[in-house]
This record gives sequence, C-alpha cells and structure tokens, in this order.
Amino acid sequence: MTVPISFEFFPARGPESQERLRETANALASVNPEFFSITFGAGGGTRDLTFDTTIRLKKETGIRTVPHISCNMLTAEEIEEMLNKYKSVGVSEIVALRGDNPSGLVASGEFKYASELVTFIKNKYADDFKINVAAYPEVHPQALSSRDDLQSFRRKVAAGAHAGITQYFYNSDSYFYFVDRCKSIGIDIPIIPGIMPITNYNSLERFSRICGAEIPKWLARECEDLRDDQEALENFGVEVVTQLCRRLIAGGAPKLHFYSMNQAKLPLKICTNL
Ligand code: FAD
Repeated sequence: MTVPISFEFFPARGPESQERLRETANALASVNPEFFSITFGAGGGTRDLTFDTTIRLKKETGIRTVPHISCNMLTAEEIEEMLNKYKSVGVSEIVALRGDNPSGLVASGEFKYASELVTFIKNKYADDFKINVAAYPEVHPQALSSRDDLQSFRRKVAAGAHAGITQYFYNSDSYFYFVDRCKSIGIDIPIIPGIMPITNYNSLERFSRICGAEIPKWLARECEDLRDDQEALENFGVEVVTQLCRRLIAGGAPKLHFYSMNQAKLPLKICTNL
C-alpha cells in the first residue's frame, strides 16, 4: 500500500539549523519522496531564505524542491523577479498562496487572493511552472461559507492550478467529503491530503485554533492525557496518523504530503508503517 509522498520544510536560518535541516532532508530522502516543499514566511520575510533553502536542498539531496510563494505582501514586480530567479535555476513547480498577514500588518500586495496569483503566473509563464494551491477540507477560517470556500478553490483550479494540497485534518471523512464536492462541480485535479504528525500537543492545539483545523474530541482527550509523556504521545500519534493515512490511501488519495516541521523521526515512522 504505497502512494507518492512529499515533505514540507520551513527554511532554516543560520548554520546550525541549516545543518539540522540537511540531516532531516537526507533522512527523509531515504523513503524516495517525490519532492520537498519549502514554505514562505508570512509577509515575505523569508523570500531569500526560501530561495536559498530550495536550491541548497536540491543540490544536497538530489530530490526535486518546490518553493512556496505567497502574494499578500508582494508587488507583481517582486513576484516576477522571484519567479525569474527560480526559472533560471531550473525550478519548475511551486505552491502558490495568498499567505497570512504578519500580526499588526495589513496586506500590501498586488493580489488579494491566491487565484489572482495563479492567473498572473499562468499569463506570464504559461506552463513553465506547475502550480499547487492550498485546499481546505474543513473550510478556510476566513471563508464566508463552506460553499464560498469551495468556489474559491474552483477559481484557483480554473486559473490553472495543477494540484491542491490540503490543510491538515484528523478526520478522513472531511477529506472524502471535500473531494466528492470538488468532483460534483467538475474539479478534477489531484487533491493531496496534508498530513501533520503529532509531535508537540501544545503547539498543535494552538496552531489548529489559528488555521481552523479540527482536533476531534477523542483525539484531543487522549493527547491531553499524554501531554507530559512525550514518548507515549509520539507513539500514540504515529499510530493515529498511520491509520489516517491508511484510510486515505484505501479511499483513493493520490499522494500524501507530510508537514514535517523539519523533523524526520515521526514522518519516517509513519512512512515505514505504511
Ligand atoms: P486563498 O485561496 O486566496 O483564500 C483565502 C481566503 O479568501 C479563503 O477564505 C477563501 O475562501 C477566500 N477567497 C478567495 N477568493 C475569494 C474571492 N474572490 N472573494 C471572496 N473570498 C475569497 N502560509 C504561508 O504564509 N506560507 C506558506 O508557505 C504556506 N504554505 C501553505 C501550504 C499549504 C498546503 C496550505 C494548505 C497552507 C499554507 N499556508 C502558508 C497558509 C495559507 O497561506 C493560509 O491558509 C492563508 O490564510 C490562505 O492562503 P490561500 O492561498 O489558501 O488563500
């Protein structure tokens, strides 16, 4: 039971964390991922770091690297300059996002929504870049309604996205329901589940509140009980996430995208289980 997998990293700042990321990437390369994706810090603060990490990891691991680009704080010229740089070094796939505003700042970018960024890239670069976009089985927290959010996803697909990568979730029904709704309105691109291993429950709880990902009650209760026993929490998390992945694959998920949080241990255990 296998499907192609990919891993997401955030860019590493400073020699020590770069070295740690290199070790993580090399460890994860052992399970033959399709690609590594590199996030883009809110507000564009990691623009150069995302670029450098994309190039470095590609060179060090031989695995294809896919940078994220978010448009909420960038001008069209800045986006074009960045894409030209990526094109010049042979990067041909990206994750195109709106992004979130850093706290206290309002969006200053040229494009209000990711669909506008996808349109811009398609107009300027035709098929030079394969474009992944974000998808939200449990609905984006700022969406006016679930239907509106589905239409937002449809606009990104109509603009030229070739695959959707989802926000993480722990309830496989939300993914299957989302995929069915996409199909019912003619969306036929691959929708790749985003998988979040359970490492640190406090941060997971905090981040889930912000990004609108649901932690089901049974899972939250168990994690709360294990909060102070890291090893037991990790073992439990690996089991739960492995089962989730198995259900997703059995139900037809085309690939799996792991939010690695720059750690190899748990994603590797889950992949080995699969
Ligand atoms: P959009 O698709 O533009 O949607 C944003 C909101 O606007 C949604 O509520 C949508 O329903 C609504 N909307 C869209 N179009 C319209 C319209 N025409 N009219 C009215 N409402 C509309 N963030 C980062 O900062 N860096 C990253 O590297 C990063 N990587 C990510 C990777 C993945 C796979 C995922 C799922 C998310 C990632 N994020 C990242 C988070 C993402 O930037 C946030 O979730 C952000 O709030 C929305 O970005 P988006 O591209 O989904 O926006």
